[in-house]
Amino acid sequence: MHALAQADDSEPSKPTVRCRAHKFGGSSLADAARIRHVADLLLADDASTQIAITSAMQGTTNALVALGEAATSGSKWKPALEALHQRHNDTAHALLQRPAAAVARINTLCGELAELLQASSLLRQPGRTALERIHGMGEVLSTTLLHAHLVERGGDYALLDARDVLVVRHTDLGAVVDWEQSAAKLAEWRTQHPQARVNITGFVARDEHGLPTTLGRNGSDYSAAIFASLFAADELHIWSDVDGVLSADPRLVPEAVPLTAMSYREACELAYFGAKVIHPQTMTPAIARGLPILMRNTFRPEFAGTRIDAVGDRNPAGPVKGLTLGGDLALVCLEGAGLIGVPGTAERVFAALHAAHISVVMISQGSSEHSICCVVHQREADAARDALQDAFTRELAGAQVQGVTLQTGISVLAAVGDGMAGTPGVAARMFDALARARVNIRAIAQGASERNISVAIDSADAARALRAVHAAFWLSPQTIALAVIGPGKVGSALLDQLQTALPRLRTQHTIDLRLRALASRSNLWLCEHGDAVDWHTRLQQPPSEASLDLLTKHLLDTHLPHAVVIDCSASDSVAARYPEWLAAGIHVITPNKQAGAGPLQRYQAIRSAQAHSGARFRYEATVGAGLPVISTLRDLLDTGDDLLSIEGIFSGTLAWLFNKYDGSKPFSELVLEAHTLGYTEPDPRDDLSGADVARKLVILARESGMHISLSDVEVQSLVPASLRSADRDAFMDGLAALDAPMQAALEAARSKACVLRYVAKLEQDGKASVALRELPASHAFAHLRLTDNCVSFTTRRYCDNPLVVQGPGAGPEVTAAGVFSDLLRLAAALGAKL
Ligand code: ADP
Ligand code: ASP
Ligand code: MG
Repeated sequence: MHALAQADDSEPSKPTVRCRAHKFGGSSLADAARIRHVADLLLADDASTQIAITSAMQGTTNALVALGEAATSGSKWKPALEALHQRHNDTAHALLQRPAAAVARINTLCGELAELLQASSLLRQPGRTALERIHGMGEVLSTTLLHAHLVERGGDYALLDARDVLVVRHTDLGAVVDWEQSAAKLAEWRTQHPQARVNITGFVARDEHGLPTTLGRNGSDYSAAIFASLFAADELHIWSDVDGVLSADPRLVPEAVPLTAMSYREACELAYFGAKVIHPQTMTPAIARGLPILMRNTFRPEFAGTRIDAVGDRNPAGPVKGLTLGGDLALVCLEGAGLIGVPGTAERVFAALHAAHISVVMISQGSSEHSICCVVHQREADAARDALQDAFTRELAGAQVQGVTLQTGISVLAAVGDGMAGTPGVAARMFDALARARVNIRAIAQGASERNISVAIDSADAARALRAVHAAFWLSPQTIALAVIGPGKVGSALLDQLQTALPRLRTQHTIDLRLRALASRSNLWLCEHGDAVDWHTRLQQPPSEASLDLLTKHLLDTHLPHAVVIDCSASDSVAARYPEWLAAGIHVITPNKQAGAGPLQRYQAIRSAQAHSGARFRYEATVGAGLPVISTLRDLLDTGDDLLSIEGIFSGTLAWLFNKYDGSKPFSELVLEAHTLGYTEPDPRDDLSGADVARKLVILARESGMHISLSDVEVQSLVPASLRSADRDAFMDGLAALDAPMQAALEAARSKACVLRYVAKLEQDGKASVALRELPASHAFAHLRLTDNCVSFTTRRYCDNPLVVQGPGAGPEVTAAGVFSDLLRLAAALGAKL
C-alpha cells in the first residue's frame, strides 16, 4: 500500500474519503524532481474527489516581491525576471515529455509579468492591483507545471485559476471571503470542468471590484482551507518540509518535537503569534465546517504529522503545546500617576492606535493602572508613539502622564496550550526558566482564555529565552553549555565520564551537555556548536591562545540556556575569575581549593556575586574527592542542626603513611614508597606540611559559617625546619631527617597504647588545627584502610555518636565523580529530571 493511503487508512475498514484537499508549499515544489514526487502522492490518493492547491516554487514569491520593488524604485529588474523565467522553463523541460504547451504558457505569463514591471517602473507608483498581480504570478506558473505533469501521467485533472472564482474583501483583519459569490462562481465553473480532480492556484484571488489580489504572504494555506470548504472536503492535508507543527520553530530550537494533535484554538494562537508553519486565517473556514487539517511532511509521507481539529490532543504530554517567537517589535508605554483609576484610558490608547492603523500585538497593564504597555511592529513604532503623544497631549502638559516611552528591538515569546487553563504554576515555570537563563522580562500578558502566556523581551535574548522555556516544559532536554579548564588528570577523567554518561543523561534525565570550551594553561579550544562532549576530537584541532576573557565571551555568546565553568586546574588566577563569572550568571563547579580556602575577601565576593545573580558555586570535590562531605555538612546545617565539631583525616597521602607506619621501616622509606606509587604530590612537602589539609579545614569552616582564613589554622608541619626551604631534590635526599622525630613520636604513642594519626579539627568556637595526634587504638581513625579519608561530624543531633563519612578520598576518578555529582545537582536545580 502506498505511504499516503497507509498513513490515512490506519483502520482497514475505514471507508474511502469522499473528498480530500491537499496543499503543497513552496519547498515541496522547489524543482522538477520534487514536483514529480508531489504528483506521485496525488496519483496514489484514493479519494473519490481530490483538490490540490499549490504555492509558488520555493523562493519565487520573494523574487517577485523584489522584482516589484526594483521596478518601482527604478532599479534593474530584467535580469532577475529573466532568471525566474528561465527557472520555470528549465523545470518544464526537466519535468515534461512534451513541454511545448507549458512553455508557451510560461512565456505568455512571463510576458505579462514583464509588461506589469515595465509599467510599474514607468509609473514608479504602481497601483496595488499591479503589485498583487505581480506577486501572485508564481502560483499561476507552478500550478501550470504540476497540472501539465499530472495530465501527462494520465491524471484527469482540471486546472482552476483561483482568480476566476474566489472573491475576497480586504479588511483590517485580513482578506475575508465572499462565500456566496465564490460558491456561485465555482458552481458555474464546475459546469464546464466536472473532473473529479482539480489543480488550484493558491494565494491568489479576486477582490470585490473584480481585480486580481492575493491573500497575504504565506496565504496559500488559507486558500487551501477556503477551497476545501467550497468543495466540502472531508480533510485537508497541508504538505510542507517539516514533520507537522513542532513544539517550536526548528530553526531556533533543533530539539523541537512534532506534535501529534492540537486543537483549532491552539493552532490559531501559535499561528497568530508567528509560527510560520501555518497561516493564521487558515483555521476560520476549517472551524466553520469542523474540517480536520493534517500537517504533513512531503519528504516523509509515511509519518502521520499533526492533526488539527476541534478536539485536539486527547493525551497531552503537558500543559504547554508549543512556543512561538515574534521579532521586529517595539514596546510603547504610557506611564503616569494621573492614569490611576481614570476610566477609559485603555480605550483612548486603543482608539488612538486604531485611528493610526497600528495593529497591537500584545497589551499589558498593571493593576495599579500606573502604566499601559503595548507591543507593536517596529515599523509602526514611531507612529504609535506619536499617536499616543497626540492623544494624551493634555495629560502630558498637565504632568498627569509622565511620558510615552518607546523601546525597540523587542520580541514576544508566547507559550500556547489548551492544558494551561486551570493548571497552576505554568507561568511560574516559564518565568523561572527565563530568570535562570538571565532573561529580563519587559512586559507580560496572559489571555483570559489562559491558553497563552506572552512575554516581551529584548530580541538579543530571544533565542536563549526560547530554548530555556522549551527545555523547562520538557520539550527538550536541559541544555547546559560547559567550559572545562584544566584537562589534566581530573579534567580528563571527568570528560571521559561525561562522554560515557551523555546518552543516558539525555534520554533518562533530560540533560543535554554541550562542551563549548576547553582550556589548558597555554591553549584554548572553542567549539562553535558544542554538540557533544567529544573532547578527544576537539583536542586534535588547532587551539587558540589561552585567554579566559575569550572563554567567558564564548560561553556568554551562546544561545544555550545555562553556562557552567568547570575549573579542574589548581590555579589561583582561575579562581580569581569566579566572582566575575558568577556575577554574569555562569555557574562554577570545581575541585580547586584556591577559592574556598583563599583570601577571605575573595571568598566573600564569590558569595555575594552568587547571591546576586543566582548562579551556583559548587565544590564538593575540594574535600574528600568524591565523598559527600560538603553536601552532608550542608544537609546538617540546612535541616537546623548545630555543629559542635568536625574532626577528620583529610589527606589520603598522610592516611596511607600513618596506616603503614609501625616502626618496622623508617618513615622516610615509606615517604619514598608513597612517592613512587604516585600517592604524594610531586613535592611530598605539599602533603607533609599540612597546608593541603588546612585548606580543606578552612573550606569546611567557611561552609559552617565561620569567617576564618588559612592563617587562623594552627598547623603542625611534619617537614623538619631544616628542609622547609631546600629545593625538591635536596629535600628528597635529606628525607632521613624525618625519621628520628617520627620514631620518637611513635614510641611515645605506643607507650599509651595509642596510634599516630594526622588529624584536622574544627571546634564550634572557630578554633582550627591540624596536627599529629595520639589516638586510642579503638578510635575510628585508627581503623582506616589505604588512602581512606574520614570526616566525623559531631552535632547537637549526632552527639553521642558522630556522623561519619569515610572512603577513598583521592585519585582522579573519584575526584572527577565528585565534580560530576555537583554538575548533576546543578542540573536538577535547573529543572532536569533526576
Ligand atoms: P511552506 O512553503 O510549505 O508553506 P513554510 O516555509 O511556509 O512552508 O513553513 C514551514 C516552515 O515553518 C518550516 O520549515 C519551519 O522552518 C517553520 N516553522 C516555524 N515554526 C514552526 C513550528 N512551530 N512548527 C513547524 N515548523 C515551523
Ligand atoms: N507563495 C506565497 C508566499 O510565499 C504564498 C504561500 O507560499 O503560502 O507568501
Ligand atoms: Mg507557508
